[in-house]
Amino acid sequence: MNPNEIWQATLGELELTLSKANFTTWFKNTFISSLDEGKVSIAVPNTFTKAWLEKKYHESIVRALRNATNNNVREVTYKVEVRNTTQIPGFSNNENMESSYQVNTLDSPMTTETREDEYINNKDGNGLNPRYLFDAFVVGKTNELAHASAMAVAANPGLTYNPLFLFGGAGLGKTHLLQAIGHYVLEKNAQAKVLYVTCEKFTNDFIQSVRSGKAKDFKETYRNLDVLLIDDIQFIAGKEGTMEEFFHTFNALHQINKQIVITSDRQAKDIQGLESRLVSRVEWGMTADVSSPDFETRVAILERKCSQKNYQLNMEILRYVAGTIQSNVRELEGALNKVIAYHQFKNIEPTMSSVQNLLQSFVPTVPKRTITPRRLLEIVVEYYDIKMDEIMGKSREQRFAFPRQVAMYLLREEAKCSFPAIGKHIGGRDHTTAMHACHKVDTLLKTDDQLKRDLNLMREKVYMGDHSG
Ligand code: ADP
Ligand code: MG
Repeated sequence: MNPNEIWQATLGELELTLSKANFTTWFKNTFISSLDEGKVSIAVPNTFTKAWLEKKYHESIVRALRNATNNNVREVTYKVEVRNTTQIPGFSNNENMESSYQVNTLDSPMTTETREDEYINNKDGNGLNPRYLFDAFVVGKTNELAHASAMAVAANPGLTYNPLFLFGGAGLGKTHLLQAIGHYVLEKNAQAKVLYVTCEKFTNDFIQSVRSGKAKDFKETYRNLDVLLIDDIQFIAGKEGTMEEFFHTFNALHQINKQIVITSDRQAKDIQGLESRLVSRVEWGMTADVSSPDFETRVAILERKCSQKNYQLNMEILRYVAGTIQSNVRELEGALNKVIAYHQFKNIEPTMSSVQNLLQSFVPTVPKRTITPRRLLEIVVEYYDIKMDEIMGKSREQRFAFPRQVAMYLLREEAKCSFPAIGKHIGGRDHTTAMHACHKVDTLLKTDDQLKRDLNLMREKVYMGDHSG
């Protein structure tokens, strides 16, 4: 096996033992940089990843590497290295010419368990779950744009926005909207060729078709659709052959005004390892995000689900549930199901106290670990690739001054430091400097999406540190 194959096999094993999010975060854009007499050097895209792989995943990596090489690995080290690609981002001359590409069969099949409510093996073969209709979707401030764009696309597939790209965190209704489009189109035109696939299914179908010499059938299926709905595209990242195929599928459909709808858990440009020509395609049409619903919407969702299930809960209880589970709709539904199942099983009326008891596990008992100022500063310093004494120091150069202000902002927001304390932590500055910095970053955040993403990534590091074991 060559290093690439060894690494693919290793990743295949690691993928099984990690959550999707962890796997994607830490193993995208990694590869074997050198392999010499049992010494393996693994290339990683940045120092964060290096530190995390060393700290958290070293043992699993060594184990998986040994399995992939019949125990021929003695030493594993990590280094920051970005693969040298000579490809020019965006358009190249031959990107529409299929004959020039070779199918890369090294992509490994995906084994991220698809939830059974997602891709469904139904008799129509379109993958749609009958549960996910527009009618069942509750619209609030944080999903109204996504909902409206999905409706627009469903009413005029191929003509309004193409592609439509929906993104946002887990359990916020992306799959629901995606499938609702499919149902709506079919309702208006039963002859329409609609296909819903998870990225995982697309990948595996493709690999399967190549391996069994049926690449032509694959193309025939995917390129003759009226509407292609593809869920969780972030998982295509790093799969060279599949990305290539998706690119051509996309072009083929788009050229003849066939509708493509894509979802992802983050913005296309934040998907590490997604080819830039795909990023640009994905963003061609309309982009809409979904975020966590506000309290009133959560209550409305609970009401809707109760009436679907024909089960009564009083407003006080609904508000309690909506107040307890804040982050995502899937959990909210889970909590409601638990309440209903419990009381039906016991055959008792739900009361505030029985519901409170039941939902105890959802109430965060351990307060969010308080991040130390030191750790936060380390994260900022690493993120901006500067040194600790540069962030502490007096230089007003923008490349130090700005990270310094970001650090002060995060100290305030995440570590809950007072202004005088912030000043003290950052090289003994005055509290007015800290106030000014926080205010400035606050203001910038209103318009600067890049900064927002930067901060979220830094927060993610804080957060990952809490949960990755
Ligand atoms: P995602 O694909 O974003 O992870 P899903 O579409 O699978 O999320 O949604 C998770 C669950 O929450 C599904 O059962 C879905 O029906 C439900 N859900 C999400 N948003 C809404 C909403 N606005 N109204 C009603 N149900 C919703
Ligand atoms: Mg989904």
